Amino acid sequence: DFAHGVALYLEDITVSFDGFKALNQLSLTVDVGELRCIIGPNGAGKTTMMDVITGKTRPQQGSASFGANIDLLRLRENEIAQIGIGRKFQKPTVFEPLSVFENLELALKADRRARASLRAKLNSADLDRMAEVLQLTHLRRLADLQAGLLSHGQKQWLEIGMLLMQEPKLLLLDEPVAGMTDEETERTAELFLTLEGKHSLVVVEHDMSFVATLTQGFKKVTVLHEGSVLAEGRLDQVQANDKVVEVYLGR
Ligand code: ADP
Repeated sequence: DFAHGVALYLEDITVSFDGFKALNQLSLTVDVGELRCIIGPNGAGKTTMMDVITGKTRPQQGSASFGANIDLLRLRENEIAQIGIGRKFQKPTVFEPLSVFENLELALKADRRARASLRAKLNSADLDRMAEVLQLTHLRRLADLQAGLLSHGQKQWLEIGMLLMQEPKLLLLDEPVAGMTDEETERTAELFLTLEGKHSLVVVEHDMSFVATLTQGFKKVTVLHEGSVLAEGRLDQVQANDKVVEVYLGR
């Protein structure tokens, strides 16, 4: 599926709500292993775009594929999750009464629900994966702590860890550093830069210094406005773009 190096391909996607176009012929290509930041003012269509990718919203027009040939518009939401697209919403949704470890365990088993029961024992490969995810998310020392006692940032990492337990090919992240301290934001950038390459990531974010850190090395940023792509290119290029400046400063 990923032979051509394309992880996600959206073409001419239009979504109308009572005649209002939340997405208006939106096209976007994300390569395998790419980390793509999506920016744009409120109402630009960022959430609607994520909803289309995950099957929550169906476009009236356009096409969407995962890899070279999996047609996302023919799959249901749960099928899209099963083929390796993981989405993280802005608010963390961890199971607060359970420990960090148990949350990861649950995520792993939820992914396998057809094959194993929740009571099935973890094998050594599972335990290795958990150790790796705990390490990546800086939660190793907190593995036995109740998730409800974590800081906001730590809950966000745990939720990302839960997604990683399901080995997604593409991760969709909606404002992942909202509400985080500066230090947590830095560590989150580090985490994403580690995931890049192994996973494809689409990150919707308002925090421009976070975006600048993520896109170091001349990575592409996409600016959405009124449901379509207003500009695409290096962060410094799009920030200098007259149309982008106008949209952000207001008219
Ligand atoms: P963003 O995430 O960039 O802030 P959204 O995708 O949430 O933008 O919204 C894009 C536009 O579509 C907004 O004007 C919003 O009010 C509208 N919209 C989104 N969802 C719906 C809906 N279910 N019904 C009507 N309008 C909607």
